Amino acid sequence: MANTIYYKKDPEVLGMSNGLTSVFINVLGLSGSRLAVKNYEKNLIIFLLEKDQASVGIGTVGFDICEMPWDIDAFKEQKQFLFHVIDDVLLKNGWNKLSYNPNYDMVANSMEGFRKLLQKMQVEDIDKEAVQEWMECFEEERKDIDKYLVCEIHNVLLTCFGCQVCHD
Ligand SMILES: [Zn+2]
Repeated sequence: MANTIYYKKDPEVLGMSNGLTSVFINVLGLSGSRLAVKNYEKNLIIFLLEKDQASVGIGTVGFDICEMPWDIDAFKEQKQFLFHVIDDVLLKNGWNKLSYNPNYDMVANSMEGFRKLLQKMQVEDIDKEAVQEWMECFEEERKDIDKYLVCEIHNVLLTCFGCQVCHD
């Protein structure tokens, strides 16, 4: 089994083994959680960290990038933020917090694949229904708590499942 990240208008997909998917989310989570300032940036990283195979099932975390919690008014800034996060991953920032050494070439390949998908996506592609559903769940789940808590060990944003890096 494996996971596929894709852009609905593009036949080219980013397919990753289950193991590589966990690493991909670990390193995006480390860089993204550290760099995110705006809520619309944090939301994108939480969406990615929810792809937590230890919690939702191995090989079940593929998604269409159009379903990510994009904000129509901040779409450009959000894309720039993710490119910045990808660049930060390529510098291996925060990898000392992991209990293993990721394979750099495999991570770099997957980051470039993710970047390519993001580059092609346009604001009109946003899956508004999926985004609204995600935002409603997110607000509901966190109405009584701080929305943006982080793991004390990894400094990674917590999802409803906890810390994705701790689970790995
Ligand atoms: Zn953690």
